[in-house]
Amino acid sequence: MTHTNPAYHLKNIRHYYGSQKVLDIDDLNIKTGSITGLIGSNGSGKSTLLKMLAFALKPAKGQIFYKGREESGFSPTVRLKVTLLTQNPYLLKRSVFENIIYGLKIRKDTNHLEARVKTVLSTVGLDYGSFAHRRWHQLSGGEAQRVALAARLILKPEVLLLDEPIASVDTKSAGLIRKASLKARDDWGTTLVIASHDLQWLYSITENQISIFNGKIFPGGIETIITGPFEKTGDKAFVKKHANGQPLILKAPGPNEENAVIRKKDILIEPSGHDLTKGINRLSGHVAAMHLEKETHHIVATVLVHDLSFVLKLTPDQAGSFGLYPGKNITLGFYPGDVEWF
Ligand code: ADP
Repeated sequence: MTHTNPAYHLKNIRHYYGSQKVLDIDDLNIKTGSITGLIGSNGSGKSTLLKMLAFALKPAKGQIFYKGREESGFSPTVRLKVTLLTQNPYLLKRSVFENIIYGLKIRKDTNHLEARVKTVLSTVGLDYGSFAHRRWHQLSGGEAQRVALAARLILKPEVLLLDEPIASVDTKSAGLIRKASLKARDDWGTTLVIASHDLQWLYSITENQISIFNGKIFPGGIETIITGPFEKTGDKAFVKKHANGQPLILKAPGPNEENAVIRKKDILIEPSGHDLTKGINRLSGHVAAMHLEKETHHIVATVLVHDLSFVLKLTPDQAGSFGLYPGKNITLGFYPGDVEWF
Protein backbone atom coordinates (compact mmCIF):
# COMPACT_ATOMS: atom_id res chain seq x y z
CA MET A 1 0.00 0.00 0.00
CA THR A 2 1.40 3.37 -0.89
CA HIS A 3 1.05 6.07 1.66
CA THR A 4 1.24 9.70 0.66
CA ASN A 5 1.73 12.27 3.35
CA PRO A 6 -0.68 15.17 3.19
CA ALA A 7 0.80 18.26 1.57
CA TYR A 8 0.06 20.08 4.82
CA HIS A 9 -0.77 19.15 8.35
CA LEU A 10 -1.38 22.09 10.69
CA LYS A 11 -1.52 21.43 14.42
CA ASN A 12 -2.66 23.81 17.13
CA ILE A 13 -1.94 26.93 15.10
CA ARG A 14 -2.59 30.27 16.79
CA HIS A 15 -1.71 33.60 15.26
CA TYR A 16 -2.22 37.14 16.50
CA TYR A 17 -1.92 40.68 15.23
CA GLY A 18 -1.35 42.59 18.43
CA SER A 19 -3.87 41.17 20.85
CA GLN A 20 -6.32 40.12 18.11
CA LYS A 21 -6.39 36.38 17.50
CA VAL A 22 -6.58 35.91 13.71
CA LEU A 23 -6.01 32.17 13.37
CA ASP A 24 -7.14 29.41 15.69
CA ILE A 25 -6.73 26.04 13.98
CA ASP A 26 -6.58 22.85 16.03
CA ASP A 27 -6.05 20.45 13.19
CA LEU A 28 -6.08 20.82 9.41
CA ASN A 29 -4.94 18.42 6.71
CA ILE A 30 -4.64 19.30 3.03
CA LYS A 31 -4.13 16.27 0.80
CA THR A 32 -1.35 16.21 -1.75
CA GLY A 33 -2.74 16.89 -5.22
CA SER A 34 -6.11 18.07 -3.90
CA ILE A 35 -7.94 21.25 -4.86
CA THR A 36 -9.25 23.02 -1.79
CA GLY A 37 -11.45 26.10 -1.68
CA LEU A 38 -11.16 28.58 1.16
CA ILE A 39 -14.36 30.47 1.92
CA GLY A 40 -14.80 33.28 4.42
CA SER A 41 -15.85 36.90 4.64
CA ASN A 42 -13.36 39.77 4.61
CA GLY A 43 -11.07 39.74 7.61
CA SER A 44 -11.76 36.11 8.51
CA GLY A 45 -8.09 35.12 8.14
CA LYS A 46 -7.85 33.63 4.63
CA SER A 47 -4.83 35.67 3.50
CA THR A 48 -3.07 35.06 6.80
CA LEU A 49 -3.57 31.31 6.39
CA LEU A 50 -2.40 31.36 2.76
CA LYS A 51 0.74 33.31 3.72
CA MET A 52 1.44 30.66 6.34
CA LEU A 53 0.94 27.87 3.80
CA ALA A 54 3.37 29.73 1.53
CA PHE A 55 5.93 29.73 4.38
CA ALA A 56 5.96 33.52 4.22
CA LEU A 57 4.54 33.98 7.73
CA LYS A 58 5.38 31.99 10.84
CA PRO A 59 2.56 31.18 13.23
CA ALA A 60 2.87 32.55 16.74
CA LYS A 61 2.15 29.04 18.03
CA GLY A 62 1.72 25.59 16.56
CA GLN A 63 3.28 23.28 14.04
CA ILE A 64 3.20 23.07 10.25
CA PHE A 65 4.15 19.77 8.63
CA TYR A 66 4.86 19.82 4.90
CA LYS A 67 4.66 16.35 3.32
CA GLY A 68 5.15 14.80 6.75
CA ARG A 69 8.13 16.94 7.77
CA GLU A 70 7.84 19.64 10.37
CA GLU A 71 8.83 23.00 8.91
CA SER A 72 9.83 25.30 11.68
CA GLY A 73 12.67 27.17 9.98
CA PHE A 74 10.77 27.89 6.74
CA SER A 75 13.89 26.89 4.78
CA PRO A 76 14.51 28.33 1.29
CA THR A 77 14.15 24.77 -0.04
CA VAL A 78 10.55 24.40 1.11
CA ARG A 79 9.70 27.98 0.14
CA LEU A 80 10.76 27.26 -3.44
CA LYS A 81 8.25 24.42 -3.73
CA VAL A 82 5.28 26.59 -2.90
CA THR A 83 4.05 29.71 -4.64
CA LEU A 84 1.36 32.26 -3.78
CA LEU A 85 -0.56 34.43 -6.22
CA THR A 86 -2.30 37.41 -4.63
CA GLN A 87 -5.28 39.45 -5.81
CA ASN A 88 -3.19 42.32 -7.17
CA PRO A 89 0.18 40.76 -7.81
CA TYR A 90 3.20 42.93 -8.14
CA LEU A 91 4.72 42.94 -11.61
CA LEU A 92 8.29 44.10 -12.12
CA LYS A 93 8.54 47.26 -14.19
CA ARG A 94 9.88 45.23 -17.08
CA SER A 95 8.57 43.18 -19.99
CA VAL A 96 6.16 40.26 -19.66
CA PHE A 97 9.04 37.94 -20.63
CA GLU A 98 11.30 39.30 -17.87
CA ASN A 99 8.50 39.00 -15.35
CA ILE A 100 7.83 35.38 -16.24
CA ILE A 101 11.46 34.23 -16.07
CA TYR A 102 12.25 36.14 -12.87
CA GLY A 103 11.71 33.15 -10.55
CA LEU A 104 13.64 30.82 -12.84
CA LYS A 105 16.62 33.21 -12.83
CA ILE A 106 16.61 33.19 -9.03
CA ARG A 107 16.66 29.40 -9.19
CA LYS A 108 19.47 29.56 -11.80
CA ASP A 109 17.30 27.45 -14.07
CA THR A 110 17.69 29.22 -17.39
CA ASN A 111 17.59 26.56 -20.12
CA HIS A 112 15.21 26.90 -23.07
CA LEU A 113 13.64 30.03 -21.63
CA GLU A 114 11.88 31.11 -24.81
CA ALA A 115 10.15 27.77 -25.35
CA ARG A 116 9.09 27.58 -21.70
CA VAL A 117 7.71 31.12 -21.70
CA LYS A 118 5.83 30.33 -24.90
CA THR A 119 4.25 27.27 -23.26
CA VAL A 120 3.11 29.01 -20.06
CA LEU A 121 1.83 32.04 -21.93
CA SER A 122 -0.29 29.78 -24.09
CA THR A 123 -1.54 27.96 -20.95
CA VAL A 124 -2.94 31.25 -19.66
CA GLY A 125 -4.35 32.18 -23.09
CA LEU A 126 -1.77 34.79 -24.12
CA ASP A 127 0.01 34.74 -27.46
CA TYR A 128 3.80 34.87 -27.19
CA GLY A 129 4.20 37.10 -30.27
CA SER A 130 1.82 39.77 -29.00
CA PHE A 131 2.58 39.64 -25.28
CA ALA A 132 6.14 38.50 -24.46
CA HIS A 133 7.71 41.89 -25.12
CA ARG A 134 4.93 44.11 -23.83
CA ARG A 135 5.76 46.28 -20.86
CA TRP A 136 4.07 45.68 -17.52
CA HIS A 137 1.78 48.72 -17.94
CA GLN A 138 0.45 47.65 -21.34
CA LEU A 139 -1.76 44.94 -19.84
CA SER A 140 -5.38 44.87 -18.69
CA GLY A 141 -6.09 43.73 -15.12
CA GLY A 142 -7.00 40.24 -16.31
CA GLU A 143 -3.92 39.98 -18.54
CA ALA A 144 -1.63 41.15 -15.74
CA GLN A 145 -3.11 38.51 -13.44
CA ARG A 146 -2.58 35.83 -16.09
CA VAL A 147 1.05 36.93 -16.57
CA ALA A 148 1.55 36.69 -12.80
CA LEU A 149 0.03 33.20 -12.84
CA ALA A 150 2.27 32.20 -15.77
CA ALA A 151 5.29 33.39 -13.76
CA ARG A 152 4.28 30.91 -11.06
CA LEU A 153 3.33 28.06 -13.39
CA ILE A 154 6.73 28.13 -15.10
CA LEU A 155 8.19 27.03 -11.75
CA LYS A 156 6.08 23.81 -11.83
CA PRO A 157 5.22 24.36 -8.16
CA GLU A 158 4.29 21.52 -5.80
CA VAL A 159 1.73 23.85 -4.28
CA LEU A 160 -0.06 26.78 -5.90
CA LEU A 161 -1.90 29.09 -3.51
CA LEU A 162 -4.34 31.57 -5.04
CA ASP A 163 -5.65 34.45 -2.93
CA GLU A 164 -8.74 35.99 -4.58
CA PRO A 165 -7.24 35.39 -8.04
CA ILE A 166 -10.30 36.54 -10.00
CA ALA A 167 -11.47 39.44 -7.82
CA SER A 168 -10.38 42.08 -10.33
CA VAL A 169 -10.39 40.24 -13.63
CA ASP A 170 -12.80 39.83 -16.57
CA THR A 171 -14.90 36.70 -17.12
CA LYS A 172 -12.63 35.34 -19.84
CA SER A 173 -9.57 35.67 -17.58
CA ALA A 174 -11.45 33.96 -14.73
CA GLY A 175 -12.11 30.98 -17.02
CA LEU A 176 -8.49 30.86 -18.20
CA ILE A 177 -7.17 31.07 -14.64
CA ARG A 178 -9.41 28.14 -13.71
CA LYS A 179 -8.24 26.09 -16.69
CA ALA A 180 -4.53 26.83 -16.16
CA SER A 181 -4.74 25.97 -12.44
CA LEU A 182 -6.48 22.66 -13.16
CA LYS A 183 -3.82 21.87 -15.76
CA ALA A 184 -1.08 22.32 -13.15
CA ARG A 185 -2.78 19.73 -10.96
CA ASP A 186 -3.33 17.34 -13.86
CA ASP A 187 0.18 17.68 -15.34
CA TRP A 188 2.33 17.86 -12.22
CA GLY A 189 0.07 16.85 -9.33
CA THR A 190 0.22 20.38 -7.94
CA THR A 191 -1.78 20.89 -4.75
CA LEU A 192 -4.10 23.89 -5.08
CA VAL A 193 -5.58 26.04 -2.31
CA ILE A 194 -7.80 28.83 -3.56
CA ALA A 195 -9.59 31.62 -1.69
CA SER A 196 -12.40 33.34 -3.57
CA HIS A 197 -15.57 35.27 -2.89
CA ASP A 198 -16.99 34.02 -6.16
CA LEU A 199 -18.58 30.82 -4.91
CA GLN A 200 -19.85 29.74 -8.31
CA TRP A 201 -16.32 29.90 -9.70
CA LEU A 202 -14.84 28.32 -6.58
CA TYR A 203 -17.25 25.36 -6.60
CA SER A 204 -16.49 24.83 -10.30
CA ILE A 205 -12.79 24.31 -9.62
CA THR A 206 -12.39 22.92 -6.09
CA GLU A 207 -13.00 19.34 -4.92
CA ASN A 208 -13.53 20.25 -1.30
CA GLN A 209 -14.00 23.45 0.62
CA ILE A 210 -13.07 24.67 4.04
CA SER A 211 -14.62 27.74 5.55
CA ILE A 212 -13.07 30.13 7.98
CA PHE A 213 -14.81 32.41 10.46
CA ASN A 214 -12.84 34.71 12.76
CA GLY A 215 -9.77 32.52 12.25
CA LYS A 216 -11.57 29.28 13.06
CA ILE A 217 -11.63 26.53 10.43
CA PHE A 218 -14.63 24.42 9.37
CA PRO A 219 -13.27 21.59 7.24
CA GLY A 220 -16.69 20.56 5.90
CA GLY A 221 -17.05 23.77 3.91
CA ILE A 222 -19.44 26.62 4.43
CA GLU A 223 -21.76 26.28 7.45
CA THR A 224 -24.47 28.30 9.12
CA ILE A 225 -23.04 30.55 11.79
CA ILE A 226 -25.30 32.45 14.16
CA THR A 227 -23.71 35.31 16.03
CA GLY A 228 -24.99 37.11 19.10
CA PRO A 229 -26.45 38.86 20.92
CA PHE A 230 -28.66 36.06 22.27
CA GLU A 231 -31.49 36.46 24.76
CA LYS A 232 -32.14 34.37 27.85
CA THR A 233 -35.12 32.05 27.96
CA GLY A 234 -37.03 30.76 30.99
CA ASP A 235 -34.88 27.63 30.84
CA LYS A 236 -31.12 28.03 31.53
CA ALA A 237 -30.36 25.25 29.04
CA PHE A 238 -31.51 27.39 26.08
CA VAL A 239 -30.99 30.83 24.58
CA LYS A 240 -33.04 32.66 22.01
CA LYS A 241 -32.67 34.85 18.96
CA HIS A 242 -35.15 36.46 16.57
CA ALA A 243 -35.04 36.65 12.81
CA ASN A 244 -37.53 39.44 12.15
CA GLY A 245 -40.10 38.00 14.52
CA GLN A 246 -39.34 34.32 13.91
CA PRO A 247 -37.86 32.85 17.09
CA LEU A 248 -34.86 30.50 17.14
CA ILE A 249 -34.16 28.46 20.25
CA LEU A 250 -30.60 27.22 20.68
CA LYS A 251 -28.92 25.02 23.25
CA ALA A 252 -27.08 27.41 25.60
CA PRO A 253 -23.36 28.10 25.07
CA GLY A 254 -20.59 27.06 27.44
CA PRO A 255 -18.26 29.56 29.09
CA ASN A 256 -16.33 31.76 26.61
CA GLU A 257 -18.40 30.49 23.71
CA GLU A 258 -20.13 33.14 21.67
CA ASN A 259 -20.94 31.93 18.15
CA ALA A 260 -23.20 29.05 17.20
CA VAL A 261 -22.69 26.76 14.23
CA ILE A 262 -25.40 24.56 12.74
CA ARG A 263 -23.97 21.95 10.40
CA LYS A 264 -25.48 21.40 6.96
CA LYS A 265 -26.37 17.82 7.89
CA ASP A 266 -28.56 19.07 10.75
CA ILE A 267 -30.71 21.44 8.71
CA LEU A 268 -33.91 19.96 7.33
CA ILE A 269 -35.96 21.30 4.51
CA GLU A 270 -39.72 21.05 4.11
CA PRO A 271 -42.17 22.71 1.77
CA SER A 272 -44.07 25.67 3.23
CA GLY A 273 -47.12 24.76 5.24
CA HIS A 274 -45.92 21.33 6.25
CA ASP A 275 -45.99 20.82 9.99
CA LEU A 276 -42.56 19.95 11.32
CA THR A 277 -41.99 17.84 14.41
CA LYS A 278 -42.63 19.60 17.66
CA GLY A 279 -39.69 21.15 19.42
CA ILE A 280 -37.92 21.94 16.22
CA ASN A 281 -37.09 25.48 15.12
CA ARG A 282 -39.17 26.18 12.06
CA LEU A 283 -38.22 29.16 9.93
CA SER A 284 -39.41 30.47 6.63
CA GLY A 285 -37.09 32.16 4.20
CA HIS A 286 -36.12 32.13 0.57
CA VAL A 287 -33.40 30.47 -1.46
CA ALA A 288 -30.77 33.12 -2.11
CA ALA A 289 -28.17 31.05 -3.98
CA MET A 290 -27.53 27.53 -5.20
CA HIS A 291 -24.13 26.08 -6.07
CA LEU A 292 -23.32 22.76 -7.64
CA GLU A 293 -20.43 20.82 -6.08
CA LYS A 294 -18.09 19.66 -8.81
CA GLU A 295 -17.23 16.26 -7.35
CA THR A 296 -20.46 15.08 -5.73
CA HIS A 297 -23.07 16.96 -7.78
CA HIS A 298 -24.68 17.87 -4.49
CA ILE A 299 -26.27 21.27 -4.26
CA VAL A 300 -25.24 23.75 -1.60
CA ALA A 301 -28.10 26.18 -1.10
CA THR A 302 -28.08 29.40 0.87
CA VAL A 303 -31.43 30.27 2.42
CA LEU A 304 -32.02 33.73 3.83
CA VAL A 305 -34.26 33.98 6.87
CA HIS A 306 -34.45 37.75 7.20
CA ASP A 307 -30.80 38.66 7.89
CA LEU A 308 -29.68 35.16 8.87
CA SER A 309 -28.08 33.03 6.21
CA PHE A 310 -28.57 29.25 6.45
CA VAL A 311 -26.55 26.76 4.41
CA LEU A 312 -28.01 23.42 3.36
CA LYS A 313 -26.68 20.57 1.29
CA LEU A 314 -28.97 18.47 -0.88
CA THR A 315 -28.53 15.52 -3.18
CA PRO A 316 -29.60 16.15 -6.79
CA ASP A 317 -32.72 14.00 -6.09
CA GLN A 318 -33.67 16.04 -3.02
CA ALA A 319 -33.13 19.32 -4.87
CA GLY A 320 -35.38 18.00 -7.64
CA SER A 321 -38.12 16.78 -5.34
CA PHE A 322 -38.23 20.08 -3.43
CA GLY A 323 -38.19 21.96 -6.74
CA LEU A 324 -35.66 24.46 -5.44
CA TYR A 325 -34.75 27.53 -7.42
CA PRO A 326 -33.25 30.85 -6.34
CA GLY A 327 -36.02 33.05 -4.98
CA LYS A 328 -38.29 30.18 -3.90
CA ASN A 329 -39.85 30.50 -0.45
CA ILE A 330 -39.12 27.51 1.76
CA THR A 331 -39.35 26.42 5.36
CA LEU A 332 -36.36 24.94 7.10
CA GLY A 333 -35.91 23.38 10.47
CA PHE A 334 -33.29 22.34 12.99
CA TYR A 335 -33.33 21.05 16.55
CA PRO A 336 -32.14 23.39 19.32
CA GLY A 337 -29.72 20.68 20.47
CA ASP A 338 -28.05 20.35 17.06
CA VAL A 339 -25.96 23.44 17.66
CA GLU A 340 -22.26 23.62 18.41
CA TRP A 341 -20.70 26.63 20.05
CA PHE A 342 -17.24 28.12 19.63
P1 ADP B 1 -9.04 37.81 4.82
O1 ADP B 1 -7.97 37.40 3.84
O2 ADP B 1 -9.98 36.68 5.12
O3 ADP B 1 -9.76 39.06 4.41
P2 ADP B 1 -6.83 38.52 6.59
O4 ADP B 1 -6.03 37.28 6.83
O5 ADP B 1 -6.30 39.48 5.58
O6 ADP B 1 -8.34 38.11 6.24
O7 ADP B 1 -7.02 39.30 7.95
C1 ADP B 1 -7.46 38.71 9.16
C2 ADP B 1 -7.48 39.75 10.24
O8 ADP B 1 -6.16 40.18 10.54
C3 ADP B 1 -8.24 41.01 9.89
O9 ADP B 1 -8.90 41.46 11.04
C4 ADP B 1 -7.15 41.98 9.47
O10 ADP B 1 -7.54 43.31 9.71
C5 ADP B 1 -6.00 41.57 10.36
N1 ADP B 1 -4.68 41.75 9.73
C6 ADP B 1 -4.27 41.20 8.58
N2 ADP B 1 -2.97 41.54 8.32
C7 ADP B 1 -2.59 42.33 9.33
C8 ADP B 1 -1.36 43.00 9.65
N3 ADP B 1 -0.28 42.89 8.89
N4 ADP B 1 -1.32 43.70 10.81
C9 ADP B 1 -2.39 43.81 11.63
N5 ADP B 1 -3.58 43.20 11.37
C10 ADP B 1 -3.68 42.47 10.25
